[in-house]
Amino acid sequence: MGVSAYQVLARRWRPQRFEDLVGQDVVVRTLRNALSSGQIAHAYLFSGLRGVGKTTVARLLAKALNCEKGPTPDPCGECGACQDIAAGSSLDVLEMDAASNRGIDDVRELREVARVLPVRDHFRVFILDEAHQLSKDAFAALLKILEEPPAHVVFILASTEKDKFPATILSRCLQIDFRPIPADLVAARLTQVAGNEGFELTPGAAQLIARATEGSLRDALSLLDRVRAFAEGAVDENAVAEVVGLPPFEVVLALWRALEGGDVAAALGLVRAEERSGRDPAALFEQLVQLLHALLLLATDPTAQAPFPDAHRPAMAESAGRLGPALLVRLLALALEGKGLVAAAEKPGVAVAVAIGRLALWPRLQRVEALLAGEPAPGAGGAPAPPSRSAPPASAA
Ligand SMILES: [Zn+2]
Repeated sequence: MGVSAYQVLARRWRPQRFEDLVGQDVVVRTLRNALSSGQIAHAYLFSGLRGVGKTTVARLLAKALNCEKGPTPDPCGECGACQDIAAGSSLDVLEMDAASNRGIDDVRELREVARVLPVRDHFRVFILDEAHQLSKDAFAALLKILEEPPAHVVFILASTEKDKFPATILSRCLQIDFRPIPADLVAARLTQVAGNEGFELTPGAAQLIARATEGSLRDALSLLDRVRAFAEGAVDENAVAEVVGLPPFEVVLALWRALEGGDVAAALGLVRAEERSGRDPAALFEQLVQLLHALLLLATDPTAQAPFPDAHRPAMAESAGRLGPALLVRLLALALEGKGLVAAAEKPGVAVAVAIGRLALWPRLQRVEALLAGEPAPGAGGAPAPPSRSAPPASAA
């Protein structure tokens, strides 16, 4: 084999069949059912965040429509139509980026082209990416086509901003909403891709990447590309943290230990050290929020996936079990309030210090509350608890 250009993971592992799609079960089922029963719309609107599979599904739908055996929910992947669409060279499937083809002229051209019969396949399929960026005139021209669409034409509009479409266009489209992909599914897909590519990706690193990219599988795969290039070997939590600019897990863990012990001075010292190292203290706070979330999940489900190294899992599970879900929910709520503070602050360092200082006070608050409720104070040593004669039962919330 000769030298070949490196193809990014997101492209190399782009699903070629509906069943390979990750995290879009409702979308897949809707389209497969429609294809099985021969209900083909002239216009589809795929909306959702970037990188959740809109363009991938648009191409799959084009294949399903134009496969020699189509329309079918299971395109063969082998006929000329399937192969040309996969290679992006089909004459009957035209992909346009509305962001760079905004003018009326392109839509007029579209209308001319739409009148022409398919060159070879069953349908002429137009995939319009970022379709919300069309101009007002372009929308008007598109509407004219959609009012009386030629039988052989299918439009697939893909967009991250559905609310920017005129109602007249929306009402003529079969609207399909794509959801953000859950972190566990993204992590599982990353692990699968790493396995196929033959490199090691630790479970904690897969979780970190999935959480950093917030439901976008494409972003997750391109981050995996970057970390892999950086790590030159196994991809672990610290490699991900370094590439993303996150604090190493040890720092997040030390911060949590300080908070757990109610040690305000130690917690604030870690924030200052983070600032001195040139990293963004807001990123440290965000990682703390993620850690609290993971602890809460662990408290309710000991098998939950978590964004930290496996070696730390037993200690984290112990923390989670000891604190319990009710308390962790309150800590997480407090941390989320702090997040708002950090986001709004001019100097994130100061806001992070305040937010973390407040979090560090929780053991003291908890002791006061316990005393007020007439319960034995947690961690109060051997002192006998006051009798709880007439105290009402403590509320769990
Ligand atoms: Zn085919």
